Amino acid sequence: MIEMKNVSKWYGSFQVLTDCSTNISKGEVVVVCGPSGSGKSTLIKTINALEPFQQGQIFVDGTPVHDPKTNLPKLRSRVGMVFQHFELFPHLSVTENLTIAQIKVLGRSADEARQRGLKMLDRVGLTAHKDKFPGQLSGGQQQRVAIARALSMDPIVMLFDEPTSALDPEMVGEVLDVMVGLANEGMTMMCVTHEMGFARKVASRVIFMDVGGKILEDCSSDEFFKNPEARQPRTKDFLNKIL
Ligand code: ADP
Ligand code: MG
Repeated sequence: MIEMKNVSKWYGSFQVLTDCSTNISKGEVVVVCGPSGSGKSTLIKTINALEPFQQGQIFVDGTPVHDPKTNLPKLRSRVGMVFQHFELFPHLSVTENLTIAQIKVLGRSADEARQRGLKMLDRVGLTAHKDKFPGQLSGGQQQRVAIARALSMDPIVMLFDEPTSALDPEMVGEVLDVMVGLANEGMTMMCVTHEMGFARKVASRVIFMDVGGKILEDCSSDEFFKNPEARQPRTKDFLNKIL
């Protein structure tokens, strides 16, 4: 589903991604972790071309992201993205947030978009809030709306960038529950997160990134968690700090 080959990126002379390669098959859940500033957000955003890169290749379901001829809006419409800070439109109601891209990008009718949006809202358990504005919802509820909005576009893959990091602790669980549900239904997911409980429960693989944007480890989550002694010193150091 996602094929990344030798991707490198620089900001001026600062290298933010160094020769990153990985493959994610359909239905896989890959957790990306690593210290702050190691390039996790940058890496995940290269996949839907929110971050350009100077070297390497990325294919999403066969579509070459690196090819200037690729229709990027079309690609992005198939790759769902959920950010740390929700990024809902504050001046639109929940229902409008769920439908606007379906109408403007996918060309769905207002009726069809509404039906699809409300179905996804139901799935994250927020039907009762359909007419509210984002500011009237808790952080956890806003993040669940953001997930429902991404799902309304019928994505072939979902990217999450620290979706629970900005939440109060008591709201983390409700968002993770939605993500676990998605994973169990076979959604292909790449999640930047330090929620190692989530990683243990649903990740098929764990990628560990280190400063300089290097993929230091890319292994099955069984191997990652059950064989800590085989990890790189930098990974062990990081895990000791967060676990
Ligand atoms: P992470 O998500 O792992 O915390 P990021 O991908 O956000 O890391 O950032 C990786 C590195 O790139 C950081 O050192 C950050 O300061 C740097 N960086 C991010 N955006 C820019 C930018 N627009 N210009 C220069 N440096 C940047
Ligand atoms: Mg980040």
